[in-house]
Amino acid sequence: KTTEIETIFSRRESKVRSYCRTFDAIFTTAQGSELWDTKGQRFIDFLAGCSALNYGHNDPDMKAALIEHISGNGITHGLDLHTQAKADFITAFENCILKSRNLDHKVMFTGPTGSNAVEAALKIARKVTGRSNVIAFTNGFHGMTLGALAATGNSYHRAGAGATLSGISRLPFDGYVNGAASLELLERLLQDPSSGLDAPAAILLETVQGEGGLNVASDHWLRGVAELARTHGALLVIDDVQAGCGRTGPFFSFEEMGVSPDIVTLAKSISGFGLPMGLVLVRPKHDILGPAEHNGTFRGNTHAFVTARIAIEKFWSNDSFQHDINRRSQIVTTGLKRIAETIPGARLKGKGMMLGLDVGSGNIASAICRRAFKDGLIIETSGAHDEVVKVLAPLTTPDTQIHEGLQILLNAAQEIAP
Ligand code: PMP
Repeated sequence: KTTEIETIFSRRESKVRSYCRTFDAIFTTAQGSELWDTKGQRFIDFLAGCSALNYGHNDPDMKAALIEHISGNGITHGLDLHTQAKADFITAFENCILKSRNLDHKVMFTGPTGSNAVEAALKIARKVTGRSNVIAFTNGFHGMTLGALAATGNSYHRAGAGATLSGISRLPFDGYVNGAASLELLERLLQDPSSGLDAPAAILLETVQGEGGLNVASDHWLRGVAELARTHGALLVIDDVQAGCGRTGPFFSFEEMGVSPDIVTLAKSISGFGLPMGLVLVRPKHDILGPAEHNGTFRGNTHAFVTARIAIEKFWSNDSFQHDINRRSQIVTTGLKRIAETIPGARLKGKGMMLGLDVGSGNIASAICRRAFKDGLIIETSGAHDEVVKVLAPLTTPDTQIHEGLQILLNAAQEIAP
């Protein structure tokens, strides 16, 4: 019997997708960290739109604000117009996020994806420095547009794109080689004219590599890289598209690590509601792109500004949300350690609510995710070989649902374990 999925999706929808796996369900509704499908089955969300839904699905306050905005004929599409919604977002972001963190950066709205924010960051760095080379890192992921893709470490993402843009050098991320070696190597290559490493416009990195398998940069390594960027006249660009908006604990993943990046990219959860929105934070002296040097029809989605403002005010006007995230992180850590005991050689990776288990093989990781899905858990893998089962539950997930999801994962691991 042909299923609805086969008739509708397989027939007409292209095979292109973000993850390899297709889920055998058609989803209709969602609330918080739960989703329901056409058959009424309930699922717990440990994927959260790959960190685009840090505050869960359909947050009631964001939903109410959006409905009010639409019912009052609020602007839908503003492009470059000054809108009230944009003003309110900027004000909330300045008051709750930038000022308390001593960041004097300007907010530059980019196209609504993480990739587009990365493209903007690369352009700014090139224009500011007059250089073109960019240093990025092994296992980094920065997006699928050609510039961001060129900076992305995993070659399978580039497979169909042909030759990508030149002028990106990829070097070992923290821990890729032992001890301080990756930092020392970077320093040596930068100083050595025979390395062929052209003076960089930017050093671009994630503090926790989301797609690359939850590799965590140490404070020491990150500070060392920041220092190298400074001494070599390159801009430090932190791509916080996945790790930002509280995913690792604080609002910005880097803010407790002792560095102040020149440029920060944000997208995914910045709208708070799963609406498309991207931005770049840039130091005032580097805010030098002129009109039309990074334009785009969908810079500035007014509905996203409405929900983003609520997200910022609701969750980031004091420290309590960060405490909640840290508490939930402990629950996930304890649960994953228990699951690790069922799989020989498995190890915990990540930070905050960006945690996972390296189970040593892509086949095992995918089998665990597939098995867990049957019991109602949506979860994905990451890593160069898809070897990491990655828990990205909304940061607002009630403790009971975190426990429930971890129990499903434990059962799946016990069944699949070699
Ligand atoms: N940077 C990072 C760190 C990401 O994780 C992603 C998306 N996974 C991107 C950039 C690209 O974002 P988008 O898919 O919205 O273009």
